[in-house]
Amino acid sequence: MSNTDKPSRNRQFLLAHRPVGEPGPDTWELAEASLHEPADGQVLIRHDYISVDPAMRGWMNAGKSYVPPVEIGAVMRAYAGGEVVASKHPDFSEGDAVTGVLGVQEYSISDGKGLRKVDLSLAEMPIYLSVLGMTGMTAYFGLFDVGEYREGDVVVVSGAAGAVGMIVGQIAKLKGSQVVGIAGGPEKCRYVTEELGFDACIDYKAEDVAQRLGVLCPKGVDLYFDNVGGDILEAVLSRIALHARVVICGAISQYNATKPRGPANYLQLLVQRATMRGMVVFDHAARYHEAAQAMSGWLGEGKLKHREDIVEGLEQFPDALMRLFRGENTGKLLLRVDH
Ligand code: NAP
Repeated sequence: MSNTDKPSRNRQFLLAHRPVGEPGPDTWELAEASLHEPADGQVLIRHDYISVDPAMRGWMNAGKSYVPPVEIGAVMRAYAGGEVVASKHPDFSEGDAVTGVLGVQEYSISDGKGLRKVDLSLAEMPIYLSVLGMTGMTAYFGLFDVGEYREGDVVVVSGAAGAVGMIVGQIAKLKGSQVVGIAGGPEKCRYVTEELGFDACIDYKAEDVAQRLGVLCPKGVDLYFDNVGGDILEAVLSRIALHARVVICGAISQYNATKPRGPANYLQLLVQRATMRGMVVFDHAARYHEAAQAMSGWLGEGKLKHREDIVEGLEQFPDALMRLFRGENTGKLLLRVDH
């Protein structure tokens, strides 16, 4: 890093208060920290894109989960992608493009753990935070490993126009399945069927999901990939086939609920000898390369489409996060950081 382009300040979003229900204006503090040179074994990274994820809402809650909560006063946890601007680490050089869990901030210092080098000549950074990143990995391992996808499965996916859902449905189509998406609004449903090539899409805001599934999947649903929980999970459970598999990937409809609720009709699992299994993408980290290779192949052949929904400016983070809960994103939601 030369003296002329040496950054001295680092704007960062700190978790100021744990929200009860929806995050509000007092949830965040936009702070400015001074930046120091990396020490031996460290790199300084300039963040160009920050991933905005529904999981962030869970990370803000106190208590035991699959990762520790973000502490009050700490930088909000986030995946990010950017460039190494100074390095005292043997494995990283200035100019390397990297992704990692680096936080909602303009810069970060890393000791290299969990930092992944990416090749921007093969794909642009937003793609490494989308289909070739955490959400793409979630789709792949959720469908094949957790969902134990079988040839001929009738697949239903909620959050179908979102980062995970758009990939789940396309992979299942590539494998020859009948795929039905569930999404909010006619515009998203049009995107899911006409652009992503799903066989059908149910607009849960305007249609009766269980009734439509009865018509679209008369023999029942073999694999349900659930991103949303709540009423939609209950509706799909009422239509599962014998030996169905239900993947609990997420339940965004419940993340801001002060009294989250589960499906009353879970005995459908008994009736249909079905399984419902939760997943956490990190459990599959040792095999990310396998998924990335498959996805890169499909991307290269033009068989896998993807969309990134990019909001400009770090200061937009609080509102960008709420866009997920308002359903205002189509595809992977990212923040672009100006420098
Ligand atoms: P996303 O689908 O790109 O964005 C969230 C979408 O959720 C919104 O666009 C909205 O779409 C929908 N939504 C919001 N409120 C809803 C409600 N009340 N009822 C139904 N749908 C609602 O987000 P993503 O990153 O792909 O994540 C999808 C899910 O996967 C989330 O639950 C997330 O937590 C989970 N996830 C889990 C893992 C894991 O390892 N388990 C990893 C990644 C993501 P509509 O306009 O269609 O409503």
